[in-house]
Amino acid sequence: MTKIVNHWIGGKTVEGASGTYGPVTDPATGAVTTKVAFATVDEVDAAVAAAKDAYATWGTSSLAKRTTILFKFRALLDAHRDEIAELITAEHGKVHSDALGEVARGLEIVDLACGITVQLKGELSTEVASRVDVSSIRQPLGVVAGITPFNFPAMVPMWMFPIAIATGNTFVLKPSEKDPSAALKLAELLAEAGLPDGVFNVVHGDKVAVDRLLEHPDVKAVSFVGSTPIARYIHTTASANGKRVQALGGAKNHMLVLPDADLDAAADAAVSAAYGSAGERCMAISAVVAVGAIGDELVQKIRERAEKIKIGPGNDPTSEMGPLITKVHRDKVASYVTGAAAEGAEVVLDGSGYTVEGFEDGHWIGISLLDKVPTTAKAYQDEIFGPVLCVLRVDTYDEGVALINGSPFGNGTAIFTRDGGAARRFQLEIEAGMVGVNVPIPVPVGYHSFGGWKDSLFGDHHIYGNDGTHFYTRGKVVTTRWPDPADGPGGVDLGFPR
Ligand code: NAD
Repeated sequence: MTKIVNHWIGGKTVEGASGTYGPVTDPATGAVTTKVAFATVDEVDAAVAAAKDAYATWGTSSLAKRTTILFKFRALLDAHRDEIAELITAEHGKVHSDALGEVARGLEIVDLACGITVQLKGELSTEVASRVDVSSIRQPLGVVAGITPFNFPAMVPMWMFPIAIATGNTFVLKPSEKDPSAALKLAELLAEAGLPDGVFNVVHGDKVAVDRLLEHPDVKAVSFVGSTPIARYIHTTASANGKRVQALGGAKNHMLVLPDADLDAAADAAVSAAYGSAGERCMAISAVVAVGAIGDELVQKIRERAEKIKIGPGNDPTSEMGPLITKVHRDKVASYVTGAAAEGAEVVLDGSGYTVEGFEDGHWIGISLLDKVPTTAKAYQDEIFGPVLCVLRVDTYDEGVALINGSPFGNGTAIFTRDGGAARRFQLEIEAGMVGVNVPIPVPVGYHSFGGWKDSLFGDHHIYGNDGTHFYTRGKVVTTRWPDPADGPGGVDLGFPR
């Protein structure tokens, strides 16, 4: 029997009333295993209303109460890592170890939220004028919404809601319709941890649900993570409706390899970062820029490693790379490889026709490696979001930096070198939000913030870390005068107070 995934509103499962469902597929078999309910405007309104009701008490609840619940949630999350990872693998397709890694990175943000007391400490200046003190405090916004992508169905929601609810907001999540089950499991664990009904809600669906969240007058802020065209749309629409918005978009992440780099280490890093999670990571390395005469040797080393990657179902412990999310996406990724030669690239490895024996209906694609890719090629210009690595050749460091800075995206980037001076220049000159020095995927730890530049992020706030706390709170400055009983009346003074 097909499993049905419903909404989570006001602390309980609510059956979808629209009669519209989306199919959820096991990418390894191609079989539809689950139907996910798509919310109507009324169902989104019910979730926002539940969150608004809950905010009346949650927004003023003590920090101790909020963090006690988050600590319990952390323990439950830790105990259910495997179960959540299994749900992710069944709907997303990534291998179990990678799914476990995703849960661990999400848990880091829960850790941060458990310690929100430190980040929420205000500031106080005493005696700024005679008998006058000034304090700065931060207060929650109210109901906030999160809209998340398919590629990290547990981690990306956890980039958002732990900090949002720790700071006193209530939350409505609209997860990806392609792999919705992990979000629901997180909702159940939050309830088990003692989170009051309505503080965290999940509505499933498509554009109908998203658009209602973007226009709902009771939604004060929207966090979005997904592709660039939708991020731009979310930012424009939610901003026009007066909401605070952070919208993280797509990427084309470059790795600059200088001639003095350890080429074995660089090849290991390029292969891990390009093909891990089948390239369906916003921080995946999709373009290696080889500087000087190292190109042939580097490509050879990447090829040797890439050819050994074992592709198979995510729940097979011997698999290193799983299938892609949908058949349509698989075919799109394959088209970049089949079209690459005509665009002037050398096809070193062609995975476009790959399949796995016994799982012929799965969304399989093999490893592809394209060399000498011109910057005019679609395979270079587009975010492919699959296991396709482009290698580009340049003569100098400056040419490499200019090439990377010419990209409309600016999420992550990395330099591989033994030259500290070059690495230092790169950190300062490169136009990207996250930089790795001999680190291919520089995802910041939870207590720093994550976010790109240019078309990889719309809005002023990066996500989690200090920016997360700032995004989900607004500042207030209180100026207080308590006259000393001995002062007597101050008298009228129409000048500036001193
Ligand atoms: P997507 O943009 O298609 O979908 C993201 C969310 O937006 C989903 O919940 C989806 O239901 C909703 N959505 C889709 N189309 C919409 C529309 N027309 N109107 C309103 N809502 C809509 O992204 P995806 O395919 O799920 O995820 C992959 C993309 O996410 C990649 O581009 C990847 O780089 C990006 N991503 C970025 C980051 C980051 O931190 N910058 C992290 C993870 C993923």
